[in-house]
Amino acid sequence: RISLSGVHKRFGDLEVLKGVDIDVEPGEVVVLIGASGSGKSTLLRIMCDLERADSGDVWVGGVPLHDRKRAPEIFGHVGMVFQQFNLFPHKTALGNVTLALLKVRKLSRTDAEERGRAALTRVGLADKADAYPGMLSGGQQQRVAIARALAMDPAMMFFDEPTSALDPELVGEVTGVMRSLAEDGMTMVVVTHEMRFARDTADRVVFMDGGVVLEQGPPEQVFGRPAEPRTQQFLHRVL
Ligand code: ATP
Ligand code: MG
Repeated sequence: RISLSGVHKRFGDLEVLKGVDIDVEPGEVVVLIGASGSGKSTLLRIMCDLERADSGDVWVGGVPLHDRKRAPEIFGHVGMVFQQFNLFPHKTALGNVTLALLKVRKLSRTDAEERGRAALTRVGLADKADAYPGMLSGGQQQRVAIARALAMDPAMMFFDEPTSALDPELVGEVTGVMRSLAEDGMTMVVVTHEMRFARDTADRVVFMDGGVVLEQGPPEQVFGRPAEPRTQQFLHRVL
């Protein structure tokens, strides 16, 4: 469970988060939407400890993030997937997926490869284990990046616009994998412009505007009966 309360963040003169409260329950799929610059990525990065809040509280799995002694054990258990896949070009798909298992988890090569192959199978790429990123489509590369996160056996996963760098016809294979993770009960926080994914898969849609959570609720509520004029305007632009 992730819990944020009163989170503020500024970059220089720019106040990017102006007091955000948000909870994510185990097994929940939360989709963050909002205009460019509204603070979605910053919020996600604070949730996964890539960025630190200026003030406010962040709790993950019952551990406050400012408890630096205990926080690392939690952050061994989150997976992150970004717009850019950041695969090592000179390593195969399996090599990319097993790297952290070998170097961070210190697994034996046999164990790492077993887990790596299972993760690649999970994303439908069992037959691409020996392929280099340059031989894979963007959608396949992003699925390797998801497998790399999954291989670490994360308790929750964070996605920041995982399909934004993909050609439109490749989006579905990535959102399909994400949907199947959601169906398996993975706790997920996803920033995306894929409103269809949000509608089909989110338990809750959170609309961010100007550094605050302006509105949130089940997708049928936020998309079907948005209460706030700003939400209505945003949805009108993107739907
Ligand atoms: P987008 O949809 O374009 O990805 P976003 O909602 O993810 O937008 P953020 O990336 O959280 O927005 O950025 C919010 C604001 O904070 C933007 O104005 C951005 O320029 C600024 N910002 C983000 N990171 C930094 C940083 N490291 N240094 C300075 N400014 C930053
Ligand atoms: Mg962003």
